[in-house]
Amino acid sequence: ADWAAAVAAVRQLPADGRVLLICHVNPDGDALGSMLGFALGLRRLGIHRVQATFPGPPEVPEPLRGLPGLDLLVSEGEAEPEPDLVICFDAASESRLGELAGRLTGKGTALVLDHHASNRGFGDVNLVDPAAAATSVLAEQLLERLGVPLDAGIAECLYVALSTDTGSFRFDATTPAVHEMAARLLATGIRPGDISRRVFDSRPFGAVRLFGEVLGRARLEPEEAGGQGLVWTYATLDDLARHEQRPYVLEALIDPVRCTAEADVSCVVKQTAPAVWAVSLRSKGATDVSRVAVALGGGGHRLAAGFTGRGTVDEVVERIRAQLRAYDPESDADQQG
Ligand code: 5GP
Ligand code: MN
Ligand code: MN
Repeated sequence: ADWAAAVAAVRQLPADGRVLLICHVNPDGDALGSMLGFALGLRRLGIHRVQATFPGPPEVPEPLRGLPGLDLLVSEGEAEPEPDLVICFDAASESRLGELAGRLTGKGTALVLDHHASNRGFGDVNLVDPAAAATSVLAEQLLERLGVPLDAGIAECLYVALSTDTGSFRFDATTPAVHEMAARLLATGIRPGDISRRVFDSRPFGAVRLFGEVLGRARLEPEEAGGQGLVWTYATLDDLARHEQRPYVLEALIDPVRCTAEADVSCVVKQTAPAVWAVSLRSKGATDVSRVAVALGGGGHRLAAGFTGRGTVDEVVERIRAQLRAYDPESDADQQG
C-alpha cells in the first residue's frame, strides 16, 4: 500500500480542489460508511468541494439513512465530470462502478481504497489490503496520516462500515487491531446500541413476512459442496411487490440462511430484472466462495462473495452446483476479476 503517495495526492490539492468520492453499486455499510466518513474528514481538512456518489439507482438503503454526511451525496449526473482527485471505496474492480468508472481515467488522480483480494489496483495510487477487515480500516488510517482528528460524525460512518463488514465483530477478520479501531471510534461518544438497532435490527413488518415466505422455500442439499452441504433460496421481484418491499431488504436475507448448521455453503438468489439475479454466496470455511463467484463472473472474499446470474433460478443454482462439484480445495488458484 502506497501511503506516501496517497497522502501526497490529498495534500497536493489546491484550496479549491474538487474531490469526487465514489463507491460500488448497491452500496453497503462499508462502501457508504468509509466513503462518507472520509468525505467528512476531507471537510475537516478545509477541502470543501467534496462530492460523493455511487452508480445505479441513487437510493440509500433505509438502514443506512442515519449516516452522517449523507448531505454530501449527489446523483451520478450531478457528479463533477473532471475532478482533481477521485477516491474509490470498497470496489474490487471498475465493473462495480458502472458509468462512474470513466471518472477514474480523467486528468485527476485516481486513488483506490479497498480490501478485496481480487483487486488488481486499478487506480493511479492504490491502498489495497486484503487483510483489512473493511475498507473503513484503510480510510481511518489515511485520515490519521493526514492529521484529521476523529469526530463523532466521521466515527459513526466508520463504525457502521467496520461493524457491517465484520458481521458485528464476529468474523475472523476481527483482529485486536479492529477492536482497537472500534475503541477509538467509540471514544468520540457515538452510541453503538442506537447505531446497531438502526443498521441491523430494524426492518418493516412486510419484510419480516417476506423473509418468512422466502425462508420457507429454502432447500438443503447435504451432498453438495463436497459433502459439506449447500443451502439456498431465492426471492423474485413478484415476492417484493406482493409484500411491498424494496430490494435492499433482501440483503439481510443471507444471514438467517447461512445459520444452517448442515451446510458449509449458503446462497440467496435475488431477482433484479426478469432474467437477472444478484447472487450472494457465503461459506463457513471449507469452500472459498470467491473462487466460485469469480468463475461465474463475480468476485468477493473467501467467505462472502457474489455474482450476477442470468436465466432462470434453476439455471443459476445449477451453475453454482457445477462450480462446487469442480471445486478443488487443494488448488489455490489465483483470483481474477
Ligand atoms: P453480498 O452477498 O453481500 O451482496 O456480497 C458479498 C461480497 O461479494 C461483496 O463484499 C462483494 O465483494 C462481492 N460481490 C457481490 N456481488 C458481486 C458482483 O456482482 N460482482 C463482484 N465482482 N463482486 C460481488
Ligand atoms: Mn462492500
Ligand atoms: Mn468492504
